[in-house]
Amino acid sequence: MIYADNNASTALAPEVLEAMLPFFGSSFGNPSSAHALGADAAKAVEKAREQVAASLGAKPSEIFFNSGGTEGDNQALRGALWANPKKRHMIVSAVEHSAVRNCAAHLKALGYTVSVIPVDADGNLNEADLFKALRPDTCLVSLMWANNETGVLFPVERLAREVKQRQPGLLFHTDAVQAFGKVPIDLSQGAIDLLSLSGHKFKAPKGVGMLFVRRGVRIEPLIMGGSQEEGMRAGTLNVPGIVGLGAACALAKRQLPDMQNRVKALRDDLEKELLARVPDARVNGAKAHRVPNTSNISFKGIEGEALVTALSTEGICVSTGSACHKGVTNPSPVLMAMQMPKESALGAVRFSFGHGNSPEELATIVKILPGAVAKLRAVTTRVA
Ligand code: PLP
Repeated sequence: MIYADNNASTALAPEVLEAMLPFFGSSFGNPSSAHALGADAAKAVEKAREQVAASLGAKPSEIFFNSGGTEGDNQALRGALWANPKKRHMIVSAVEHSAVRNCAAHLKALGYTVSVIPVDADGNLNEADLFKALRPDTCLVSLMWANNETGVLFPVERLAREVKQRQPGLLFHTDAVQAFGKVPIDLSQGAIDLLSLSGHKFKAPKGVGMLFVRRGVRIEPLIMGGSQEEGMRAGTLNVPGIVGLGAACALAKRQLPDMQNRVKALRDDLEKELLARVPDARVNGAKAHRVPNTSNISFKGIEGEALVTALSTEGICVSTGSACHKGVTNPSPVLMAMQMPKESALGAVRFSFGHGNSPEELATIVKILPGAVAKLRAVTTRVA
């Protein structure tokens, strides 16, 4: 099996599992309990908070554990608006993950005003449109750090500074789910107020993540109940998951050079080899700054879904951003926002590498893929 779908999820790292195991066994206490077993769990949670904070250049008191990226994004958007009832406008980009996109659409249906900022054909944000959209009642700007489908990076640190210079008092959120572990993140100096992460994108388990809330920034909780996480996220803490998140953050920081050098070289080689061997293929977002591991490639004349299935039968795991609904395949909203013809968007496949991928695996993909594309093209032509 060749796994090149690391933007969908990653394998748990052995050292992360090892760190978690005691908390599935003898160290099962509730961190809110006053006895020794509770204290053990609470100590482990605070150690994880320190590890997460250190990996982001944040303070431990700015880290709020939750269930992952979707929850963090929802709390950032809804929690910011609820905390600032007089400000009813927010700004997002046209290529946000559905966790932001659909939450923003819901808020719009509830009566808030939402500006959606377009991107160009390479996936870069139209900054002039962003600045034009700012208003005195803008509560929040939410722009993702790295796109999950194309890997295109938005310059969020600079944009956070610039929107705040133009419109002081607004909050800036970034969905950094696909950026963490791939590009350096240092929140110590910046203007980013809120940042969401998801553990399963960097070798922690699924169902755990965190929201960074800069000290002094006030947003409302999504989930109310007990006083866990200073009332910002009620519910008994997922101690094993949180311990895993801390270990995975420390590991991701250590492995960043491997991601930026070796993994990037694999991704770059894939693009070079495939473009040389497969006619009518194009890399989406190629001219933009991208994370080191992601390649989104359109193959003219075929459906990406069909290629994903064909590669899967050869033991190669990749994915598409298109979604099948009632037998009709819809193109990825991200690629459509990049003004791509529908046919190219439907023909796109995402390769996302990780630390576990090798040059031998790359060679296998490069060997198998041209034939798989040619076979699908022959079938498509016959049917047409
Ligand atoms: N944001 C981005 C950019 C993502 O890629 C994902 C997951 O694919 C999410 C948010 C959602 O994260 P989670 O799976 O933890 O809910």
